[in-house]
Amino acid sequence: MRITKVEPICLRVPAWDEGCEWGDDAFLVRIHTDEGIVGIGESDTSPTVARAMIEAPESNLHCTGLERLLLGGDPMQVQDLWDKMYWQSNYVGRRGLGIHAMSAVDIALWDIVGQYLGVPVKELLGGACKDHIDVYGTFIPSDSMAENRRIVRKLLDSGYTSLKFGGGALGDDEDLDVEIIRTVRQEAGDQIQIQIDLATKWRSYDHAARMMRRVEPFNLAWAEEPIPSDDFSQVKRLAQLGIAPISGGEDLTTRYEFRPFIEQSGVSIVQPDITRCGGISEIRRIGLIAENAGVRLIPHGFSTGILLAATMHFLSATPGADLMEYSQSESPLFRKLVKNMPVPKCGRISLPQEPGLGIVVDDDMIEQYRI
Ligand code: MG
Repeated sequence: MRITKVEPICLRVPAWDEGCEWGDDAFLVRIHTDEGIVGIGESDTSPTVARAMIEAPESNLHCTGLERLLLGGDPMQVQDLWDKMYWQSNYVGRRGLGIHAMSAVDIALWDIVGQYLGVPVKELLGGACKDHIDVYGTFIPSDSMAENRRIVRKLLDSGYTSLKFGGGALGDDEDLDVEIIRTVRQEAGDQIQIQIDLATKWRSYDHAARMMRRVEPFNLAWAEEPIPSDDFSQVKRLAQLGIAPISGGEDLTTRYEFRPFIEQSGVSIVQPDITRCGGISEIRRIGLIAENAGVRLIPHGFSTGILLAATMHFLSATPGADLMEYSQSESPLFRKLVKNMPVPKCGRISLPQEPGLGIVVDDDMIEQYRI
């Protein structure tokens, strides 16, 4: 089997020059083969920049667009292709965007291997060691407390027992932050797990430490990215306050960034995004580093059903990693791009059983939102 075409696909719901919220755009890669098998992957990144990473011509040995490197290759040789892409794009790739694009390719390759062999990706990863995955619902909080109460009530009615909120109004104003967190805790009650995501908006150690002390009464399961993960020593000082477990890592890529982060930042929870960190191939390595360090792995995931499926296959085959993020985005790209979208019931989700990733993408949706 040979790769015949690498097709980058950029999707966007808002107009080109309008603002865009998490989940409202997407970057997909379809890999075509001479056997007629087509694999699909995605990266939660800047779609049009990632497209350039696929399509770029060769500039030199270490600066080559990914499609050139993949054409004619055997898609069953996933690791070999990963290493080739990493090595021959490393001036422009290596971290960040280059690895984002590689992640989408990697996921599509695993999809092809599974389809070719007629088995779900989880079987290729060693087989599922659980029969379901627990999920937590992530929502973007409003500056209206009535609206936050409504969202929480809706999630509880759907059976969620674990909630996360971040982005939107959270992180902009200290008193408002406390009000939002208090409102969610009051509405959820004491038996529900709640966690907050600051998306690094608390900026400094002093700001974050002051806020951690203010929100201590609300018994947070974790505080995600209170400050940027670049400065391990400041993240570690926050973790050492012992007020709530600190988590982070959604912005990091490859084992080379995750290893020092896991070993030096003091986080209790590491959150690689399978569509950004290097794909299924790389998150397995990151998972082993986390396991060896005694750090819990709870992947980041806030995009389409392709990300969800890839994450589910990885989690199902990974002992000790048993909690998955489930977006509450109303974006059509989240709700409808994947026709057989995995949907949780009572706070848990059952595993995909079909070959490959096991998802069916709606081609009409792709044409509707393609840019
Ligand atoms: Mg986050």
